[in-house]
Amino acid sequence: MSIIEFRKAGLALAHEFAKQLGAMWQRLKRIFTRRITDAAFFAELEDTLLAGDVGPTLTAEWLAQVRKEKTPETVDQTLRGLMHAALAPLTPSPPAADAAPTPAPYVILILGVNGAGKTTTIAKLAHHFQQHGRRPLLVAGDTFRAAAIEQLQVWGGRLQLPVIASTPGADAGAVAFDGVRAAVARGHDVVLIDTAGRLHTRVPLMDELAKVQRVIGKALPGAPHERWCILDATIGQNALAQVQQFHERMGLTGLILTKCDGTAKAGAVFTLARTIPLPIHFIGSGEQIESLAPFTPAAFIERLLGNTAVTT
Ligand code: GDP
Repeated sequence: MSIIEFRKAGLALAHEFAKQLGAMWQRLKRIFTRRITDAAFFAELEDTLLAGDVGPTLTAEWLAQVRKEKTPETVDQTLRGLMHAALAPLTPSPPAADAAPTPAPYVILILGVNGAGKTTTIAKLAHHFQQHGRRPLLVAGDTFRAAAIEQLQVWGGRLQLPVIASTPGADAGAVAFDGVRAAVARGHDVVLIDTAGRLHTRVPLMDELAKVQRVIGKALPGAPHERWCILDATIGQNALAQVQQFHERMGLTGLILTKCDGTAKAGAVFTLARTIPLPIHFIGSGEQIESLAPFTPAAFIERLLGNTAVTT
């Protein structure tokens, strides 16, 4: 199987998984329209949470709490309260989205496996910062894939932003170094650096990323100021393993969840909150440049519960 076929198969699987999750959260919504809280009600609630990738420990804890309630309405309210409490540790403080990041240039290293949405998210972040009056510089640090370099250059063109890039196969550390130095010299206040994301289980990738991080620190002491991992929200519990690996090696300072649109639902986020409580800075919910919003537990939960009127 070629790499492209392998990736396509992976994307198809993720898509299927997302569809299933969508159906499950729809199920949850249906459960709350019932009139009584009998054994069947709680059994279905339990099934639905488990199937929604909330995880067995948390599901058992939540069930023990909501069983005390007498009506579907109060179960719904209690469950929402538990979800809020679970997500509270993930709320960034102060919110990265609102604060004008300092010091300038503020260097953000974007990490994550291929296909998670790194390049697209960099474009969305750049747009977000532009909207807040910032002057971002993009750096094509995924020198492993020619397509990733081109993709970032296309986004740079559309956003009318400079992109520091080299040829495919070039040293990623050198590109990152040049990018940060260029940002300092040209007075940019935000630097967004793309990185390679081929199989996260391969040690050489992590070595390379660690080197990129060190080199950035040489170009600008104290940088990178953020190391954000981009996480495809449709991949469920696998997300935990990914975050763990990036976090162990790179010391993540936050997450961005992508593909929270359509049927993609992210029950595993609750387990993530318990095991690796890193702030979630933004939620990506589409392929458009505007489809990025700061994370708030309330909006996220409404989305999970199928209330699409709430924009995240
Ligand atoms: P990278 O390999 O991590 O750089 O990922 P890309 O940025 O190339 O994104 C992989 C695919 O996911 C592309 O087809 C993107 O358009 C798509 N994508 C990225 N973010 C989102 C999102 O929030 N929602 C949806 N539906 N698709 C997204």
